[in-house]
Amino acid sequence: MAEPVLNSSLTQISFQVDGLKLSFRKGLTRTIAWRVHQLQQVKKMLQEQQSQFYKALALDLHKSEQEAWVSEIGFVISEVDHTLKYLNQWSQPRKVSTPLIAQPAKSYSLAEPLGTVLIISAWNYPIQLVLAPLVAAIAAGNCVVIKPSEVAEYSGSLLAELLPQYLDVDCIQVISGAIEETTELLKQSFDHIFYTGGEAVAKIIMRAAAEHLTPVTLELGGKSPCIVDSQTNVEMSAARIVWSKWMNAGQTCVAPDYVLVEASFAENLIRAITSKIESFYGQNPESSQDYGRIINTRHFDRLVHYLEGENVVYGGQFNRQNQYLAPTIILSSNNQSPIMQEEIFGPILVIKTVKVLDDAIDFINSKPKPLALYLYTNDRSFEAKVVQQTSSGNVGINDGMMFMANPNLPFGGVGGSGMGRYHGQAGFNTFSHLKTIMKRRFLFDVALRYPPFSYLKLRI
Ligand code: NAD
Repeated sequence: MAEPVLNSSLTQISFQVDGLKLSFRKGLTRTIAWRVHQLQQVKKMLQEQQSQFYKALALDLHKSEQEAWVSEIGFVISEVDHTLKYLNQWSQPRKVSTPLIAQPAKSYSLAEPLGTVLIISAWNYPIQLVLAPLVAAIAAGNCVVIKPSEVAEYSGSLLAELLPQYLDVDCIQVISGAIEETTELLKQSFDHIFYTGGEAVAKIIMRAAAEHLTPVTLELGGKSPCIVDSQTNVEMSAARIVWSKWMNAGQTCVAPDYVLVEASFAENLIRAITSKIESFYGQNPESSQDYGRIINTRHFDRLVHYLEGENVVYGGQFNRQNQYLAPTIILSSNNQSPIMQEEIFGPILVIKTVKVLDDAIDFINSKPKPLALYLYTNDRSFEAKVVQQTSSGNVGINDGMMFMANPNLPFGGVGGSGMGRYHGQAGFNTFSHLKTIMKRRFLFDVALRYPPFSYLKLRI
């Protein structure tokens, strides 16, 4: 494994950004050929260096290769393939009709690159969360500064080492570092900032962006609820809940945070969930190759602290030395306890009982709008009610986070869970300015529009 890459020099940051701006002004990133080549290079890097990426992800998060493929390497490769397939189409003028009053004319919008953009990423999917927005930013023809999370140090260092070997360094730069370096970066003016991470830092980003009137995309988190109706396929629902909750040891922005279930069905559901946990990770998940670790002791201590005074009905074992926290289930926590107030972002699932399922809708609506909302049910009218009466960035019906696998679906939050969208064309649009163009001709003119205006002109 490569030595950790040193933090970028603070005094160099403004020169690096200026260099990229110059490259953009020279038009280096505008051609489709440049974009296609850079995208192909991203894919080549992932393919050629796959084992290096697996090592880094295992060291940072104890990710298995299969999980790393599905949620990081393979995920980005499909994003590249999808983008390469449609890039030409997305770059074409988007024609719209012209009303009679403006005829004859052609009306259309044209996607142009924004300029030099900044991508700041989080640690939980440290490769995907850097490269998926990078793919969109390149596709749209921008120069890019990437700031990987310093928290996933092996993955961040690997990206800092490999990206310059594969990509055009005149147009794409990696800045390594933590708060100091990011603060310095935020003093520069960018044409867009794409941030993935927590709410508190998002406010810092937005404040800094406001200084330059820079638009932002904020990919945040929050407490994603999961409603489980007793009218569902219990076995399959449990498998999908366990898959989406305990992948990456629960450190997933769209992992179900808590489950809302009728009291009479809770025991059944817990039994089904625990049986799936054991079939996926065995009796002792600590020895499973497929079960992740908490990223660092700070997050580990935060998570273990949540268990204090709670009704732990399954799991709860931990080992601080290797940052292992067992898949854990807590039943019916008090709404005021920290675990019901803060995003868990770890392998603890809260099961909260309600008298009737309609109460689940009220409960969700009393909280900030979540990034994802999950519903397991066979009842179509209840499904329609939940979709219509709640607001969330994304909805998964009868599966957990599978919507992420469809690049045709824009991904992003709403309210406290973020703003803006990416994946597929949504990402291309985020990093583009859709410039409005109307082209008229000189065939004839309607004199009525010009002054001097008269009563007669107005009546006509
Ligand atoms: P983090 O600690 O890696 O921070 C994110 C980025 O912010 C890093 O690059 C870091 O260097 C930078 N940063 C940290 N403090 C800063 C400061 N004071 N000033 C400027 N920059 C600073 O990640 P995190 O915040 O722990 O991320 C976890 C959160 O991200 C969770 O809420 C999770 O739900 C959310 N998340 C959202 C998505 C999504 O796609 N919506 C994906 C992953 C994570």
